Amino acid sequence: MSSPLLLNFKLSKTQEERALLLAKKNIIVDMHFGGPIIYNNDLITLLKELTSTEKPLHQIINKINQERIKIIISGRLPQYKEWWKTSGVTIGCKTVGIFDKSNRFFTFKKTIEDIGLVLSKIDYLSWLHKITKYEDILNIKKKNEHGFILRLENITQTGLDLKKIDLFYNLGIRIIQLTYNTKNYVGCGCMSKEDSGLTNFGKKFIEYLNKRKILIDVSHCGPKTTIETIRHSKAPVIATHTFCKSLYEHPRGKTDEEIQYLAKKGGVVGILINPLFIAKEKTSIEHFLDHIDFAVRIAGIKHVGVGTDWDCTLPSILTDYFNKQDVSWGKKVKGYRDARDWVNIIRGLIARGYNDNQIKAIIGGNFLRVWKKVVE
Ligand SMILES: [Zn+2]
Repeated sequence: MSSPLLLNFKLSKTQEERALLLAKKNIIVDMHFGGPIIYNNDLITLLKELTSTEKPLHQIINKINQERIKIIISGRLPQYKEWWKTSGVTIGCKTVGIFDKSNRFFTFKKTIEDIGLVLSKIDYLSWLHKITKYEDILNIKKKNEHGFILRLENITQTGLDLKKIDLFYNLGIRIIQLTYNTKNYVGCGCMSKEDSGLTNFGKKFIEYLNKRKILIDVSHCGPKTTIETIRHSKAPVIATHTFCKSLYEHPRGKTDEEIQYLAKKGGVVGILINPLFIAKEKTSIEHFLDHIDFAVRIAGIKHVGVGTDWDCTLPSILTDYFNKQDVSWGKKVKGYRDARDWVNIIRGLIARGYNDNQIKAIIGGNFLRVWKKVVE
């Protein structure tokens, strides 16, 4: 069986017991978690073949993902269930349809295919479920099982056709992020040269999402687009995976103003642990905890959650390949290899002095409150 790699937080025996109990008793929601990403020998062999032919990155990732699902479904990757169990995560918000041609992420066709793949996995695994209702979450926790909330990372999949939102809703999508890093029909991403805010279509789009009871995610949106979205939306808005710009200066983060406004309107920010964004070097789970502390201080305990955005430590063969293409995904986080170490988040929160109710709120309660209010 797999087990977490416990970081030494110098907790007492009673505190260690508290951490285990908190993990067992509570519904844990990781606001950005696609399930454990595991590379067994078959996948490493395939990876070697694919990288030797110098295939583009998106083709390699797509092929590996497809193959991994086949292996899981055929029962040849028992670690997949073990790692989920070890993580203790009840619900993961899973992005569907990411990897397409590198300059045209998130097409309609690719997203539909990807949803098909995820659903085939869910169909096969009796302990893994698609979540569309609050009741589903409660039932899953009762049975000590696990589930995905499906989420889009952009709106280029729907284009100007609002009816496509209905289709995605019927397939199970309950969270839609308004922009990825660049500008689209709705607004501007965080890496756009300038942020002109929401478009007129963007306002209509938000109204449609409010009507359909789909949660709006502004994680990758630019600052002006974020603020205008929060202002225009009738429902609270979330940022599933972000961090505090005041602690680490990068366009992907959120300013104090954005975090505070989102909180004022009832939303939640999920803090990520992805080492690309929380510290300059020697990244550890302590940096992640710094971002949590800061967000709690400026927004309040009811408005902070966790969206790890770090599903695995990649095999070196893949990070070497990424590095060659200037994508620095070889970074690591001390204290958090991947989802197996989720309990370190809870242990770290105890070390930082949070009480049980506060921890319960951060590790899932806050997200669930917003879900209940917005989705049903
Ligand atoms: Zn993202």
